[in-house]
Amino acid sequence: MQIFERMTTRGHEELVFVHDRDAGLRAIIGVHSTVLGPALGGLRMWPYASEAEAVYDVMRLAEAMTYKAAAANLKLGGGKAVIIGDPHTDKTPELFRAMGRAVEKLGGRYITAEDIGTSVEDMEYLRQTTSYVTGTSRADGGSGDPSPTTAAGVEEGILACLEAVDGSMSLNGLRVAVQGVGHVGSILCRNLAAKGARLTVTDIHPERARQVADECGATVVEPDEIYDVAADVFAPCGFGFILDDETIPRLKCRIVAGGANNQLKDVERHGALLESRDILYAPDYVGNAGGLINMYYRDILGRPCDTEAWSPTGVYETMKQVLETARERKIPTFRAAHELATSRIEAARREQAART
Ligand code: NAD
Repeated sequence: MQIFERMTTRGHEELVFVHDRDAGLRAIIGVHSTVLGPALGGLRMWPYASEAEAVYDVMRLAEAMTYKAAAANLKLGGGKAVIIGDPHTDKTPELFRAMGRAVEKLGGRYITAEDIGTSVEDMEYLRQTTSYVTGTSRADGGSGDPSPTTAAGVEEGILACLEAVDGSMSLNGLRVAVQGVGHVGSILCRNLAAKGARLTVTDIHPERARQVADECGATVVEPDEIYDVAADVFAPCGFGFILDDETIPRLKCRIVAGGANNQLKDVERHGALLESRDILYAPDYVGNAGGLINMYYRDILGRPCDTEAWSPTGVYETMKQVLETARERKIPTFRAAHELATSRIEAARREQAART
């Protein structure tokens, strides 16, 4: 990968490679943009097959955080960090303390949080060496696990889509196929089931799918079968890059709205393919912003952490705005979301330039 070429074309500010021999830490911090504020984004721990894969992941995720914060109208930029390692076998307190020292050195340009492979407990170790960490334990006054609020926001996004497609916002009897029932997906399932939705679920860990199915009265299918399930909504809540030339033609849904980051393998191509199939796509970074919104209000602005989920999150209003813009201007929804986010970033850039 030509790293500088990608940094230039995608507008990344900074990419930091971190090594701590004693802690066994190999990590990359990506700061995509600090135009609107400090770059807040989660810390992912994953056994990447190659360094190039880790670099690509951190850069795409950091960029998505910039648009997520801007679309949600938060005074935050976009960043992300990855630790190369297996979260099941390679975690130690010192690994996260070393990571905290690296975050601290950036002086607040990057603020970290949980992501796939990291937990509230890991954030507590980071907190020992940096103050630039969110999503720490609620017992210590932090905002805790962002997943309940992310799931609340995903539900709001689904409601905005339903309203656009059907003119109704009833979840009762709605058929929803959920891919991935981890932190976000399992809470989303419980919330939707409580409102009468009929669920089909899958997970690459079959025991997780079975447990959620038992709790929610859902049907379980094999991971590869989820794309073929006839449903009103397909909700990707696992890993990214799952909507592509092979999977989109198989979908039998009217709406794609889920919590996963980077759902489209190629944003332009696969966003257009969904559009051509008359499937309404809820732009991922608009729909899954609930956790970030929660962290912003509670950890950055210091509002009280007195309820589990910051709800309603505001995702409904932003999604509605994006869907209306797309309809009025006859443009795909991913483009309407991108224009909303970039217009705010450009306005802030112009203001900063005028001040200097
Ligand atoms: P998680 O690791 O707790 O859960 C993901 C689940 O999806 C796991 O159970 C995994 O086995 C399953 N999975 C992954 N790929 C799958 C596939 N192809 N088929 C079936 N199952 C699959 O992660 P999470 O915190 O729930 O996050 C889920 C997604 O939402 C991720 O893309 C994450 O980046 C995004 N996200 C999470 C939050 C949050 O607050 N946790 C916020 C914003 C975005």
